[in-house]
Amino acid sequence: MRLPTTTAAILGLLTTLSTSSPLEPGLNDLSRRQAPKGKGAPRAQRADTAVSLKETTWNPPASMKQDLDDVWAWVIKRRPQDLKRGGWVYNQILDNNGALNYCVRWHSSATADAATRAAILKGLQVQSQKWADLLVGFDGWPYTKVPVKIVGWAGTSQALFPGLNETAEGKYSAYKDQEGVPQCNPDCGHFFHMNSEFFPKCQNPKENMYSMSLWLSDNLGGGAGGGGDWGQRTYRTATIAQFKAGGDAMIYLHEMGHSYAIDDFYDWKPKGQTNFIMMAGSSSYITEFDAWMARDWWRHIKPKNLGGSSSGSTMAGGAPKGAGGAPKGAGRPAAMSNGQ
Ligand SMILES: [Zn+2]
Repeated sequence: MRLPTTTAAILGLLTTLSTSSPLEPGLNDLSRRQAPKGKGAPRAQRADTAVSLKETTWNPPASMKQDLDDVWAWVIKRRPQDLKRGGWVYNQILDNNGALNYCVRWHSSATADAATRAAILKGLQVQSQKWADLLVGFDGWPYTKVPVKIVGWAGTSQALFPGLNETAEGKYSAYKDQEGVPQCNPDCGHFFHMNSEFFPKCQNPKENMYSMSLWLSDNLGGGAGGGGDWGQRTYRTATIAQFKAGGDAMIYLHEMGHSYAIDDFYDWKPKGQTNFIMMAGSSSYITEFDAWMARDWWRHIKPKNLGGSSSGSTMAGGAPKGAGGAPKGAGRPAAMSNGQ
């Protein structure tokens, strides 16, 4: 496994996901690993048209039940600490009243003009919603649309963001991590405070708090991406091109799956599944099976006060930081009322 250039904090995160989120060469093998067209295994059901996702309780298709149980047994065996981690996208959305705030780490000397910045914002909204849609109505999940806001653009120079309207588009950040890579101020990052109720050093957290980062790089050292509760790291030009094209931004979607705590399947796979986006290179879109894996995480880590039918929560503290059982954040501590 190769680790990217990271801060110590990010290294800590990747260690947590060390079995699931190296920079992943497997994603480069898409063409070789996809099922041959017209023969062999049928293409897997797209999540966004899967009838089973109308279920509002844990009732996956019979063809997936054993495989989902096997995946969860693997999680319990290999990553039990991650059930209490408190930083996954589920938590991020709850903690931010149903929205996601992004920092864009512009790891490049190229210019991000207004059109590029707009394409990134639109891409983040469209693509992240593909995952968020899969939880709608399920087992106490309180949200439907999850709006995305970019609150920070981290780069080596503000001149790389010509005409940046910091009020409307997000502020420029000159902050760098320990290896000199632009990032937004960790004082305002959810990842750096996931077990805290507050962001005590963040100036004006309502405007500056970010849920996670989209880290766009020109060089990933041969890997194709990385993902975790800190965000997603992908190739800059390819990701922007996919965002502009619409459709399914495969690598972003795969890495976002890691932000939802789902594993890679490089060293094993559930017996009955042939194609799904979290098995790198086997699907270019989120499948029904991917969706049920996300639902499995949610039902296991959700706060008890969000209802639904499943039994419980193992989320640290038992209650969401701020969701308070209502989509609009009733009961949220005043100091956490950021980013609404
Ligand atoms: Zn992966």
